[in-house]
Amino acid sequence: EKYAKIAAAVSGRPYVADAAGEPVICVEGLRKSFGDHVVLRDIDLTVNPGQVVTIIGASGSGKSTLLRCLNLLETPDAGHVWFRGKDLAADHVDVNRLREKIGMVFQGFNLFNNMDVLDNCTLAPVTLKKMTKAEAEKVALRHLDAVGLADFAHANVTRLSGGQKQRVAIARSLCMQPDLMLFDEPTSALDPEISGEVLNVMRDLAADGMTMVVVTHEMAFARNVSDEVVFMDQGVIAEKGSPDKLFTNPELPRTREFLSRYL
Ligand code: ADP
Ligand code: MG
Repeated sequence: EKYAKIAAAVSGRPYVADAAGEPVICVEGLRKSFGDHVVLRDIDLTVNPGQVVTIIGASGSGKSTLLRCLNLLETPDAGHVWFRGKDLAADHVDVNRLREKIGMVFQGFNLFNNMDVLDNCTLAPVTLKKMTKAEAEKVALRHLDAVGLADFAHANVTRLSGGQKQRVAIARSLCMQPDLMLFDEPTSALDPEISGEVLNVMRDLAADGMTMVVVTHEMAFARNVSDEVVFMDQGVIAEKGSPDKLFTNPELPRTREFLSRYL
């Protein structure tokens, strides 16, 4: 498989995994700098369908930049990212098409504040997917119901609490029927007692089989919901493994030291 990937990388052709199942995301040798500052190096990561991968690590370790390389909000300097077998570095990749398939939820919600909840959810499906307004609203109401906000469909988003806003943001992403959901510290802007309502929605989504990459400082979530935990330190993946292994018996002193801050 390694050779197939290398061959694909060299030729620029799409890498197609074996019949056992194609990864949703496969990252190999990813490197990213801003000026002289190397922010990511030697990043290898595979996310299989239905998996939840959590990325933890100190502020500045490169977590957001890695996440942003997965949907080309940042362009890698070297290495490869395959999304469902397609090499994102290849020039025939339509970035907008790609982002339709990858939902992203940010710390700061990024909602359209001049629209109500329902219009936030239907804008992209109507304009990008050419859904009819009626169809898009039907889909949106289903997702709003799933995050417990069907009653707020016609509320202005500025009137919602932080936790409600973030649940709208998640529902909005789901309306595009993504193959992958990226979360960048989705609860960091929320009061601790509000975080739970967002984490519960994410937990439900994971249980439904959504493939997710989650940057978070919520160690209980990382431990209980993820299939794999990735610990980043100074631009590299220092250690990764099952939550059980990483939280109870980490290999590296620096992993141990990082985790001890959350005890
Ligand atoms: P994290 O999400 O783990 O806190 P980031 O990926 O945001 O880390 O940042 C990693 C490093 O890259 C930091 O030193 C940050 O200052 C730097 N960085 C991130 N984005 C940019 C940018 N657009 N321009 C310059 N430096 C950046
Ligand atoms: Mg960050």
